[in-house]
Amino acid sequence: MDRMTKQQRSHCMSQVKGKNTQLEINFRQYIWSKGLRGYRLHASLPGKPDIYFGPQKVAVFIDGCFWHQCPECYKAPKTNKKFWNSKIRSNVERDLDNDIKLKDLGIEPLRFWEHEIKCNIGSCFKRLKKLLDQ
Ligand SMILES: [Zn+2]
Repeated sequence: MDRMTKQQRSHCMSQVKGKNTQLEINFRQYIWSKGLRGYRLHASLPGKPDIYFGPQKVAVFIDGCFWHQCPECYKAPKTNKKFWNSKIRSNVERDLDNDIKLKDLGIEPLRFWEHEIKCNIGSCFKRLKKLLDQ
């Protein structure tokens, strides 16, 4: 995994607009510009993958660092701790559960963190490309 310095991270995080849809659009534009085609959006599969490559059976998720408890970025909120803890924990459990369901269907889940898309979209693309080419 790519590690960032504190400065890089705070610069990167200052780019955060907080909207996951925008991230998804950025990534889609990027992979389109690299010539990837033939994917579906929000396919009705477990977890509703953001991008799904049917022929290769690869499901891509872009997970918000806060909502999905990114090990690098997540900071527990100071207020309403109980509420947030249980909310975020159930998100994480659901992610794991969906990954298992997808694997049972023979689909490979590929999850990117919000900060990876923001700060290192090229390496995200490489990971995706590698899976698709297998
Ligand atoms: Zn993160």
